[in-house]
Amino acid sequence: MKVPFLDLKASFSEIQDDLEDAMLNSVRSGQYIGGDSLEYLPDDFKAFVGSDHCVGVANGLDALVLSLKVLGVGAGDEVIVPSNTFIATWLAVTQCGAIPVPVEPHIDTYNIDASLIEAKITDRTKAIIPVHLYGQAADLDEILILAKEYNLYVVEDAAQAHGASYNGRKIGSHGDLVTWSFYPGKNLGALGDGGAITTNNKDLAARLRVFRNYGSHERYVHSVLGANSRLDSLQAAILSVKLKYLKDWNERRSRIASIYNEEFKDLPITLPSVRTYNDSVWHLYCIRSKNRDEIRNGLSLLGVETLIHYPIPPHLQDAYRFLNFDKNAFPLAESIASELISIPIGPSLSDLQVDHVVKSMKKLVSGDI
Ligand SMILES: *Cc1c(COP(=O)(O)O)cnc(C)c1O
Repeated sequence: MKVPFLDLKASFSEIQDDLEDAMLNSVRSGQYIGGDSLEYLPDDFKAFVGSDHCVGVANGLDALVLSLKVLGVGAGDEVIVPSNTFIATWLAVTQCGAIPVPVEPHIDTYNIDASLIEAKITDRTKAIIPVHLYGQAADLDEILILAKEYNLYVVEDAAQAHGASYNGRKIGSHGDLVTWSFYPGKNLGALGDGGAITTNNKDLAARLRVFRNYGSHERYVHSVLGANSRLDSLQAAILSVKLKYLKDWNERRSRIASIYNEEFKDLPITLPSVRTYNDSVWHLYCIRSKNRDEIRNGLSLLGVETLIHYPIPPHLQDAYRFLNFDKNAFPLAESIASELISIPIGPSLSDLQVDHVVKSMKKLVSGDI
């Protein structure tokens, strides 16, 4: 049996008729940038996450960059980021000319450890970017209290957390701005690139709409040095269809996670840990083991595809050599990067495939093979 890490074709087939109708309607409408289909998605998505405003943009990285820019983050400013995240979080900061200031994660949830943030705040700190990694919200209350005390902005990177909640309230409007990616592999993914920013701040939403459209509030009148970062109408139409299924897909992920949690609980591997007040949407199911390569190779021989999110933390990437971080600068991020394995948890996995992952893992880790 084969268990691909993520089967995007299977997800497409599940709702193919709906998707094809929406795509044809969009293409036949003659409106390719802007237009009606683009209007639905932001309305639907803001209703889904419970925010007052939603601004569509070209991708998740742009959502972060535009957010920092409208908040006035620029050259010489410092922005607090997790030491363990997808590199986009850091790239957004450096694209604005600002400096990423990394903070280590909790070793159980892998989210930024809010208790370590205060020590990194300086006169130049402008913002904190918590990332809701792998589908679970970061320590938002602690972060929002610190931000208020030090007069900092909070931009949440929610690229992995569509539908997640924190203390019973959906992610989407806790911080000043919340950024989303609709990259195909995310819990809500387009059939191409896409992104959005949600917020309860009307003024920021208005500035983002101008900024993403060449800094123009009226055709050929440009008030700021904006960008071209609009959400494509075709992708918006596709996302409106997929959004209707998101709740079911997240529930399916959650059921698979419960099965893994139960079946793996006695194995000598570290399982994911979710805070009692969090509702995770299980973007990824990551386990930790010192025998990572052995487990991955064994699973691969049994047809189970795994990935590593992420094998090299940003501070050790060549791209960030100029920041002069040594090896061991962020030991938790480094040890997580050397031990983590993501196993398949996509919503289109069949019961048989889930069962195969469970049996394979048990065989391998208890040494019966
Ligand atoms: C996917 C992702 C992004 C970037 O999204 P793109 O749409 O690929 O630009 C940013 N942050 C995190 C945590 C992500 O997982």
